[in-house]
Amino acid sequence: MSSNRRSTGMTRRHALQSLALAGAAAWMPRGIANTPSRKIGVALVGLGHYSRDLLAPALQLTQHCELRGIVTGSPQKVPEWQAKYGIPDRNVYSYDDLHRIADNPDIDAVYLVTPNHLHKPHTLIAANAGKHVWCEKPMAMDAAEGEAMVKACRDNKVQLTIGYRMQHEPNTRRFMVMAKEQPFGRIIKLRADAGWFGFHDGPTDAWRTKPEFGGGAMYDMGVYCVNAVRYSSGLEPLAIRAWDETIRRDIFPGVDETMRFRLEFPDDIVAECVTSFGRNLNVLQVDCERGWYMMSPFQGYEGNAGRASDGTVFEPQLGKTPRMQAEQMDQDALAILNNAAPRVPGEEGVADMRVLDAAFASARGNGARVEIAR
Ligand code: NDP
Repeated sequence: MSSNRRSTGMTRRHALQSLALAGAAAWMPRGIANTPSRKIGVALVGLGHYSRDLLAPALQLTQHCELRGIVTGSPQKVPEWQAKYGIPDRNVYSYDDLHRIADNPDIDAVYLVTPNHLHKPHTLIAANAGKHVWCEKPMAMDAAEGEAMVKACRDNKVQLTIGYRMQHEPNTRRFMVMAKEQPFGRIIKLRADAGWFGFHDGPTDAWRTKPEFGGGAMYDMGVYCVNAVRYSSGLEPLAIRAWDETIRRDIFPGVDETMRFRLEFPDDIVAECVTSFGRNLNVLQVDCERGWYMMSPFQGYEGNAGRASDGTVFEPQLGKTPRMQAEQMDQDALAILNNAAPRVPGEEGVADMRVLDAAFASARGNGARVEIAR
């Protein structure tokens, strides 16, 4: 029997029933029987779109977190944030004095929501200050940076979690269980496409179009594909071939607008993926020996839904935006409060960065086969 083939001895209907229960159990807040009285004080680092429109509103919905601090390079943003969220002067920082957060007992965790090139330096400062680190995707610019971030947090005995919000979404968690249970038999092929049509006004100063900031579709959306085929298979990929299919080179002079890639997993399982800033893409499909299941959208803020070849329907869960972000931060807070392993530790980000490193190397070689480091 191949290493990823598992026989459950159950009928497919029984398997799906148990998966429904497992899916439900998987997204029930951990520690619900013993809800901690203390809340985790969070400082948002970088007050751009995702902090302003998603995370700060989500923090108002959490049970186990409180927005207590802000870190910004834009002093003009401070008064509005202070007024809206009641943040005292003592909890306002610039990037240059972030290290001073070590002396602030109000803040337990910093959430890094800056352009990607800043994730590593700010993780090191926050970890050395003794604060837990929640870091947005992509974790870093490459796997070496990610490994340094994991080490800094381990050395300082603080948690490092990655903002892969989908791993807190119930249908996604059900797919993760199905990777183990294999209700339709052995997985043969996966497909994950993630992209959005942006930058249609032409060349721009946006950091997502610049290599030195970690711009490009692969860093921004390709990580959703990579993470999805990893959690949907429960396996680590062995090798990759990738092709940079950028069309609007005037807008994306040094980064990928569109990347197509093919991952090889153990047991001849393959994953075909496309990520793009020039196309709206949002589908995850798992083809198995005796059927299939899929989700589309699979990485939306809400409405992630799907179906399976036997008629099973995966209804949208969690409710309206920003419930998913609230669920993610509550789970990450409970991991800290309970001194338990977080659902999405830094190592999960490193595994994806290894795939990205190999993808970029392959694309430079026009689709050459590149083995993925372990
Ligand atoms: P924005 O450009 O909207 O905001 C980034 C913020 O970072 C800026 O507003 C600024 O805040 C700060 N910043 C610090 N240095 C720079 C710099 N040199 N150039 C530009 N901004 C700088 O980006 P997003 O909020 O969309 O993305 C931030 C991070 O969040 C990225 O890593 C992205 O991948 C991730 N993200 C994750 C999502 C998810 O669903 N998980 C969704 C969207 C983004 P200030 O002025 O306060 O210093």
